[in-house]
Amino acid sequence: MRYVRDNGSSSRHDIAQGCGLGISTMTDLISELRSRRLVKELDPIRRPAAGRPTRPIALDGEPWCALGIHIDVDQVRFSAVTVGGREVWSASIPVDLRSSAAEGPGIIRDILVREMAQLPPDKELLAVEVGVTGYVTRDTGTVSWSARLGWQDYSLISLVNDVLAELDIRRIHVGIANDCHLAGLHAARVELPSTPHTVAAYLGGMRGLGSSVVIAGEIYRGAHGGAGDFGHANVDPSGPACWCGRHGCLESYVGLPRLLADGGLMSLADAEQQVDADPDRAVQLLADAAAGGDADVLRVLDRSAEILGRVLDDVIGLVNPHEVILGGYLGVLSPYLLAGIRQRTEVRTAVAVFSETEIVGLTEVVPRVVRGAALAARDACLNDPLGLTRPLG
Ligand SMILES: [Zn+2]
Repeated sequence: MRYVRDNGSSSRHDIAQGCGLGISTMTDLISELRSRRLVKELDPIRRPAAGRPTRPIALDGEPWCALGIHIDVDQVRFSAVTVGGREVWSASIPVDLRSSAAEGPGIIRDILVREMAQLPPDKELLAVEVGVTGYVTRDTGTVSWSARLGWQDYSLISLVNDVLAELDIRRIHVGIANDCHLAGLHAARVELPSTPHTVAAYLGGMRGLGSSVVIAGEIYRGAHGGAGDFGHANVDPSGPACWCGRHGCLESYVGLPRLLADGGLMSLADAEQQVDADPDRAVQLLADAAAGGDADVLRVLDRSAEILGRVLDDVIGLVNPHEVILGGYLGVLSPYLLAGIRQRTEVRTAVAVFSETEIVGLTEVVPRVVRGAALAARDACLNDPLGLTRPLG
């Protein structure tokens, strides 16, 4: 299934070779997957001078769907896709989860019950992946710490499982993930013309600076789910206080409120409020000021590029990625950052093993977290197609 996802429709022979399986095992597997409508045969292709025409195998998956959910402080987004990857339903529900940490779970629960009842009735749900701001312990589905939601060791997976039980949906895959892990997965796998087995480092987020590492096309989570936390890389321990409790983290220097304040556009307190209320507008203020040649803003962005370059130089050395991707507010501002970052990392990238690392900015703001969540949910189906589905009558 993953081979066809990554290579498109393929002959049985090519899939068998690509997966290191014998052709007869492959033929049995394909009839099993066809009986569940997970794959289908396309019309025969006749090759000149070849013997029997071959019928390529393509993903089908129309009877099944996978659901991505993004829980943010001001909205809950949904995107459902078929196992073949076609989006069949999406929704975006405004909420306010800032005011009360205690009431948050009840609000989320009500929205999930109400909205998930809208899933297409002709598709059976196989997997749900939920992206949320904060540190997530992957193996237990627990939000270890979300400063923005005010959660500490909160079992979000239990809430999702309760919702599923209430909707009478059982035995499906449920995953909880950090929002920027999912954004990075989407950026690396879908938005860049990279190989399916890409290695990438992602820095993004809108209200805060989040990050992730994608290895061989999959989120690299480390031992428990915390890998890739570059936003709190230690730039200078005598630097400004960071919300995480340290001093001089990357985020304390290049976080969006700090850029607005140091660029002279507003006080730090006003900037924090603006970013919390409307981060899209906050980043647009900076981008407009930079485009208009505002000397203070351009100076702050130059300094930020130098600091980002220091951290990314280390990241490139640690991970040796194909791509370093700037998304979120850093992506919007990337036209003013990339030259400085490339200059700061040029000693590293002069060495052949690092020389092909591309540092790229995604200037467009798209619902990357919910799309990444849908992608991860769909991957869960492709990783266990026989465990999550049943033969169709
Ligand atoms: Zn920090």
